[in-house]
Amino acid sequence: MRILLIGPQGCGKGTQAKLLASKLGVPHISTGDLLRSATGELRKEIDSYIVAGNLYPDEKMLEVLKKRFGESDCEKGFILDGFPRNLKQAEMLDSITKVDRVIEISISDDEAVRRLSGRVACPSCGAGFNNATMPPKVRGICDKCGGELVQRADDTEEAIRKRLEIYHRETEPILEHYGAVRVNGENDIEEVFEEILKLIGIEP
Ligand SMILES: [Zn+2]
Repeated sequence: MRILLIGPQGCGKGTQAKLLASKLGVPHISTGDLLRSATGELRKEIDSYIVAGNLYPDEKMLEVLKKRFGESDCEKGFILDGFPRNLKQAEMLDSITKVDRVIEISISDDEAVRRLSGRVACPSCGAGFNNATMPPKVRGICDKCGGELVQRADDTEEAIRKRLEIYHRETEPILEHYGAVRVNGENDIEEVFEEILKLIGIEP
């Protein structure tokens, strides 16, 4: 089964993709991870775009995906996350594969802001916490090394709301394109997962 997960940042898409991939025995293909973990010639090429301050072009991303879909672990399907982000990309994806199910994990803008603006990390040891969902024992202090926790510059409410606006404008039209089904991402991780399994006809 080839499943596409769509949702705004903070909806828990990555977590659900991992759970689903392990339940179905298919790979979780995250375009973000694919780009980050690339090696060799592909790494050099991706870096050349990043260094120049450009996004990796859609056509190139499509080639990377096509190659990935052709690997043997994708024979039974895959869980795709991170692509497409707009209608043009969806049409490009349609030209190389047929997606069986498209699931939207929906959360309100306010909940996304609550979750994302709570993210803090320790610059000393790299540990991550979330004041909203996974708070450190002492606010502002790293549980592991006692370092001072800081927020990422792009996790301010203003920056988050700007990203959500782009999601509503660019990404949401994909949902109609595919006739996506919606689950409520504001429920607990386990509840969301069960709802997804029910939607795709798998016993929990
Ligand atoms: Zn630390």
